[in-house]
Amino acid sequence: MVQRKKASIMPQSATQTTPLSIHAKGAVDAMVFGARGARLARLAALGLPVPLGLVYPPQLVDDIANGAPVAWPAALKGLVLGLRASPQQAEWGGPETMMPIGIAEDTLDHFIATLGADAALRLQLQCIRKLGAAISGAPADAIAARVVGDETAEALAPRIAAALAAYKADTNDDFPATAAGQLRAALRHMARGWHSASAKILRQAKGAPESAALAIIAQALVPECRTGRLQFTDPATGQPGLFGHVVAHGTKEPLSSLGEDICTALQDFDAKLTRGHSDACRVNFALDAAGKPWLTDVRPARRTARAALRIAVDLAGSGIITREDALLRIDPRSLVEHLHHQIDPDETRDVVTTGLPASPGAATGRIVFSAQTAMAAQAQGEAAILVRHETSPEDIRGMHSSVGVLTIRGGMTSHAAVIARGLGLPCVVGAADLRLDMAARTMRGPKGRIFSEGDTLTIDGTQGEVILGACKMIPPDLGGPFTVLMSWADSVRSIGVRANADTPADARAARTFHVDGIGLCRTEHMFFEPERITVMREMILADDATARAEVLQRLLPMQRADFIDLFDIMRGLPVTIRLLDPPLHEFLPNDEDELEDLAKAMNVSVAHVRARAADLAEINPMLGMRGVRLGITMPEIYDMQARAIFQAAVAINTQGGSPVVPEIMIPLVSANREVELVKERIDAIAAAVQAETGKTFEYKLGVMVETPRAALRAKDLAKSASFLSFGTNDLTQMTYGLSRDDAGRFMRDYVQRGVFAEDPFHTLDLEGVGELLVMAARRGRDANPDIVLGLCGEHGGDPAAVRFCRLAGFDYVSCSPFRVPIARLAAAQASILAERGAALT
Ligand code: PEP
Ligand code: MG
Repeated sequence: MVQRKKASIMPQSATQTTPLSIHAKGAVDAMVFGARGARLARLAALGLPVPLGLVYPPQLVDDIANGAPVAWPAALKGLVLGLRASPQQAEWGGPETMMPIGIAEDTLDHFIATLGADAALRLQLQCIRKLGAAISGAPADAIAARVVGDETAEALAPRIAAALAAYKADTNDDFPATAAGQLRAALRHMARGWHSASAKILRQAKGAPESAALAIIAQALVPECRTGRLQFTDPATGQPGLFGHVVAHGTKEPLSSLGEDICTALQDFDAKLTRGHSDACRVNFALDAAGKPWLTDVRPARRTARAALRIAVDLAGSGIITREDALLRIDPRSLVEHLHHQIDPDETRDVVTTGLPASPGAATGRIVFSAQTAMAAQAQGEAAILVRHETSPEDIRGMHSSVGVLTIRGGMTSHAAVIARGLGLPCVVGAADLRLDMAARTMRGPKGRIFSEGDTLTIDGTQGEVILGACKMIPPDLGGPFTVLMSWADSVRSIGVRANADTPADARAARTFHVDGIGLCRTEHMFFEPERITVMREMILADDATARAEVLQRLLPMQRADFIDLFDIMRGLPVTIRLLDPPLHEFLPNDEDELEDLAKAMNVSVAHVRARAADLAEINPMLGMRGVRLGITMPEIYDMQARAIFQAAVAINTQGGSPVVPEIMIPLVSANREVELVKERIDAIAAAVQAETGKTFEYKLGVMVETPRAALRAKDLAKSASFLSFGTNDLTQMTYGLSRDDAGRFMRDYVQRGVFAEDPFHTLDLEGVGELLVMAARRGRDANPDIVLGLCGEHGGDPAAVRFCRLAGFDYVSCSPFRVPIARLAAAQASILAERGAALT
């Protein structure tokens, strides 16, 4: 009964005023067929079994709404029809489906003869109920009760009479007595529904234009059928297989209930569908009485980010798409789902509050309010979530001991955020709705909810959510398809991806992600460990140069050992070491214990340490004695670091292999004179180390461009430097005049109200900060064509920023190790798009 007719060539146009066959040959245009009609025609064109059907194009639908006559199409003679809306874009919605249509007084005998009386009358009653309710506006149950599967003709006959009477009572009119009359009524109802004021408002809210048009599909129904949905890849993993269900007699059953033959017939559709759509598909199907499957719709297969990656790699592997297309199909940000634990999407979340998604991944643990408690919990094998107002260097150990970090204050580049990203630790910052009571060791959330130390909490650093209790997790997966896609990315990308790595552990993590080097080693981060922070504090609080020189003597071997480790791990790859840039407030002692420890180490009174710390305290430390300002006013600090770097290079170079060429970077520069002063001393130290050791070595000196003035004066800086590295964290802070540490408080509001499209510390502001970058890069390159350009702020892992840097001619980006794969994929996409003609506007 449901057959395909021989294909004929039909002209296609949205202004067409005759119905078009789904099986007609020729280009399938969604403007004519609507989205669903185009999908069906595509299936038919692939030679797959699609029930016979016609599409009423938009102009004809409009004409019908205005009263144009409707005849029963000869091509659909003797069939029961289903009418479906097919707007030009699927998301615009449309009037509800009308089915079954066409079982009227003039066709009933035919259906009784072909389907049997029971089935024919069931369809007739369903038709009166559905179409009758649509035309009259009455609830369907007021026309007739729902038709159940096994009602007999004897039982149905009086119900049909009653339904026709109910319809007449409601409308004062007879229910359409002919199949053509039913079709006319149904089409007119749908066409007028499309033009109703409420439908217009609804679709315009979904972005539809005023001119949005509707096609209607009239398609043969597979009578007495079972229907189902299936896809040929696992929605969770992308592994091949049959996934879906079938509905028989109103009950949902697994596909396996269909038996082997039908499953094989369904499986056989996969190759044609996948090739024809260049993608994994999911389909709706109907099984006729003989068990033959018919396809009634097709869409892209549902998939998680992990499944998407496997599908793309498999499609490229079987030559259906190119490797480049596979690379373009994956959103680089979605790679976090491979790199970190994720909460199972089926898990219900009791969300306590939200903050900023500072470091991706999810973790469950017990609440601890101090680094010490975190360490104690780890010692007992317990997972801890470290909850702090904000973190500072003395929390580092505690962060290492925790499975996740939650802070009340802070933004995307605050201490907790930067450190957590470096460690690959889930982190939510700026959860401003939470209140800590450190005395009671409790945390108060919205709606008066109180949480105590030891309570179980889950944080989702990908979404920025704080969730009560434990959640089921999906573990990271860096195997198979992930590795394959990454290797394809590396073979096409033409911009380097380095890591921001401060410690040997970071550097090792970075190497496992196949980096092109270290683009930023923040040397102050080498002093966060408790046994080192005291020496660092002694140095900062030293009364004079003599006292400082003594501490620096102790720091020198530590730094030398650090650099030997880094150079060794990164052999053959560039390592950029940034001279000290400690925002002082991150290093000054905070509480009594720290004051006492420091006083003991310095052999002075607590009062003396307190007074000295008060002397050094700054009102706005992020704009205070930071970066090169320290190097200018206390040059012996950078002298020590340069000496340690050069001695480490000599030590490694004497072991043979490719020589280390250290890259030394000066932070927070705003005037070229700063660079000249530091350069003079560093060159002198290099000469001294070469004289002392009798070994020569090369090195490069570069400048961090992270103040707006440095960007403006890039021309001068490029003359003194061999590379410029853009520190977009500070550059964003200073361009906006927005504190990195305090922005978390209002950022969500700002983004929600559309003041900022996104958090500019998270997503590079291409219009403002981006303009500074392009301008500085051009000025720098004009002055020194050999200058190497890099970006080492957190935006180095932001796909849009990576694409931007590639188009602006940068040589590399540098980001935290766990964001390296994201940057590698974004870099590959940037190269492919550039080759295909994308340009920087
Ligand atoms: C920056 O400012 O972008 C940068 C990389 O340095 P830091 O985050 O250490 O200030
Ligand atoms: Mg900076």
